[in-house]
Amino acid sequence: MAETRNNDFLRVRVAQSRANPLWCTKLCPPGSVCQGDKCPFAHNLSELKAPSEMDQLYDDAWKDGVDRWYGQIMQPEQMNHFSYYYEKTQFFDVPDWARGLHYVWKGPHVLSDRYHMWDYGLTMDVELLRRSRGGRLPFEFMPNLWIILGARHGQLRAQTQEVISYGAKRSCVHIVF
Ligand SMILES: [Zn+2]
Repeated sequence: MAETRNNDFLRVRVAQSRANPLWCTKLCPPGSVCQGDKCPFAHNLSELKAPSEMDQLYDDAWKDGVDRWYGQIMQPEQMNHFSYYYEKTQFFDVPDWARGLHYVWKGPHVLSDRYHMWDYGLTMDVELLRRSRGGRLPFEFMPNLWIILGARHGQLRAQTQEVISYGAKRSCVHIVF
């Protein structure tokens, strides 16, 4: 029964997304009067998506600000909304791209995120977006984005080396005994 209800909910959301290509490209503004089922905004970070650009490109929507982050420059109001939803999301429910944005914005919390990819999957996300838009990206990357992520890559690699050499020493001890 719960599954049927869930499927119905998903079917409605997919239909809405087809009818409105900009469905869930922005977060429902905190404090606004939400229209519930008919509200075109996303109500959690996982629900956010890029515009559906199957039939046409929506460069203007990207210029206005898409809240699903692909490394693009974010406006202060977008960051306020992001921050509101990030704070109320359980740690394990935060999508990787949102962890990445939080890291680039607030970093460095390398240790707590050490099991996440160095770029939080951003390279792959950007590549898929680029392909879906015929090779063209609709935005400029944040300044220093790749420098910040590159530094994280180096730190993670150094930590992995430490863990490996610690593990190797431990196994030697076991062999001796
Ligand atoms: Zn809403």
